[in-house]
Amino acid sequence: MICCIQCVFLSMIKKMSGKYYKSSVAISLYLALTVFILTRIGKYCPGCVENIYASALYPKLAQALAWFSNYFRFSIDDVLYAGLIIFLVLNLLLVMFRRLRFKRFLGRMVVLVATVYWVFNVLWGFNYYRQDINARLNMKSAKADVNELMEAFEWLVHKINASYTPIYAINKSDVLEHVQQGYQKQASFLKIDIAILRSRPKSISLSQLFGAATISGYYGPFFSEIHLNNYVLPLEYPQVLAHEMAHKLGVTSEAEANFYAWLVCSESDDKCLAYSANLYLLQYFVYECYKHEGFREVAKNIRYEVRHDFYKSHYHWMALMNRNVELVATKVNDAYLKSNNVEAGIDDYEGVVKHVMDYLLLEQESQ
Ligand SMILES: [Zn+2]
Repeated sequence: MICCIQCVFLSMIKKMSGKYYKSSVAISLYLALTVFILTRIGKYCPGCVENIYASALYPKLAQALAWFSNYFRFSIDDVLYAGLIIFLVLNLLLVMFRRLRFKRFLGRMVVLVATVYWVFNVLWGFNYYRQDINARLNMKSAKADVNELMEAFEWLVHKINASYTPIYAINKSDVLEHVQQGYQKQASFLKIDIAILRSRPKSISLSQLFGAATISGYYGPFFSEIHLNNYVLPLEYPQVLAHEMAHKLGVTSEAEANFYAWLVCSESDDKCLAYSANLYLLQYFVYECYKHEGFREVAKNIRYEVRHDFYKSHYHWMALMNRNVELVATKVNDAYLKSNNVEAGIDDYEGVVKHVMDYLLLEQESQ
């Protein structure tokens, strides 16, 4: 009799779990499809994404997530990624040892991928479809002109020479405060709500591995967390922090995040911030200008201490880099950016030169 009741009970559980399994696959696919359709609409209507999501819904979501994650000193995003990897490995092992049917395994993977996809887009990813920086900040595009580019390079060399300050150690709390103040100062021009920025950055849990991929920081969208690599040099720290803060503000483009960070830090009253930002920008200008006539004449005016810091930063990351890890990370990042509406992929980082040129034009016209 007891045995019979057990059989009925077990078959009921099996039936219910089968139903639950089917409905969870259906619900996750439905949600993912809805989000996908919304991203396609967003692609053709960036103004809608700007007004409905980026300026209204996203800031509230980011603040709520940051409020929660601030209770933890460690990265919850990293815990989530670790949990997802463990879940995947455990399921693969179950399939290998025939404890899980392959069809059920596939179903679980569909639920996992679909859920991560829609949660990612709802919490941050829709920002990939917002208006570009020129539309948001009412900046005209400067025409591509080599002479103008070389003039801007010369201007930057003067600026960086003047802003030079030795940075051997920093107080991270002070830098955080100064960068937040910098964003506050630029809030009306950048049209941002700096309430989002009231949270502390966290260390990357696997800093050495990320150092091998030359990744100095990243933004964790699932809990609105800023992560910084423990190997970031003091002279790089302000710019890297400001860059990740731009992502937290809903700026998805790497070039735009570079521009926000440069503007906020270079206009700061704190010399460390200004120098860190100009030094970071210098590498992009050098990369864009070295192939043009007149480069050497301008570059020779870069003061010795600045050159020293430029190479110090370069060799620091080269020493940490592992070519294979870096290659994989670059390919993954490139594919990630391209799949999220960033056509330039990894080259997007270099677009900061264009944004600076556009900004200089705006400054000229407003004088
Ligand atoms: Zn970035």
